[in-house]
Amino acid sequence: MPELPEVETVCRGIAPQIEGRSISRVKVNCKKLRIPIPKKFASILKGRKIIRVKRKAKYIVIELDSGYSLVIHLGMSGRLTIQQDYQPAKHDHIVIELDNGSLIVFNDTRKFGLATVLHETEFDDFKFFKKLGIEPLSKELNTVQLFKILEKRKKNIKSVIMDSSIIVGVGNIYASESLFSAGIHPERLASEISKKESDRLFKAIVETLKRAIEAGGSTLKDYAKANGESGYFQHQFLVYDQQDQPCSKCKRAIQKIKQNGRATYFCGKCQK
Ligand SMILES: [Zn+2]
Repeated sequence: MPELPEVETVCRGIAPQIEGRSISRVKVNCKKLRIPIPKKFASILKGRKIIRVKRKAKYIVIELDSGYSLVIHLGMSGRLTIQQDYQPAKHDHIVIELDNGSLIVFNDTRKFGLATVLHETEFDDFKFFKKLGIEPLSKELNTVQLFKILEKRKKNIKSVIMDSSIIVGVGNIYASESLFSAGIHPERLASEISKKESDRLFKAIVETLKRAIEAGGSTLKDYAKANGESGYFQHQFLVYDQQDQPCSKCKRAIQKIKQNGRATYFCGKCQK
């Protein structure tokens, strides 16, 4: 599943290719993804100019000159690509043609993704936006705020930083990576994390996400050259998916456990 850095990378990758362009044609090939595609979808997009591409949590928001935005969530398997020589493919649910002939293509094999149109006045009431917590890369999250969040939660630290109603966009991968960087054991209770550890965790979350965005940016560039698409990529992780591999700090084997139904990777020596 794409996490915040992947979504940010997709936004940065597609922005220069579509900002300032107008939408000439819209083809919707399915009625429903995670939620139904609104009937007015095509008519709201057609003829409008794309002002800006931005990210809200793990949603891609493509702002139009009408006050409306095209809002997309990649779900489990969604891909949003800009294509020049379009070859229709299975699961291309939405195809948007721009005035320069390029196409924005939303493909989603498993249909857990989301595509809708929202007016700026509808954002606050949109049910998926109502439950969103703090953006980890915004000023809203800082050392004071993170400690406040942690000290009142009697759940394991990993599930707290992964809870999108608390902090958005730190998914399973970057939760493991951040806790390793901060030297905090994933099974500790959030309420028992000291201020000093919480400060370390704040720094680790921000740096881990930023590093992933940077890595994504450079990968994306090569990727776009190769096939004209922008999208998904693989990182080299410190602990995630590294079971039995030597820890980069102490060489002890990385362990894997299950927490709240999700795999957690950590070093039993470096994380306390
Ligand atoms: Zn270690």
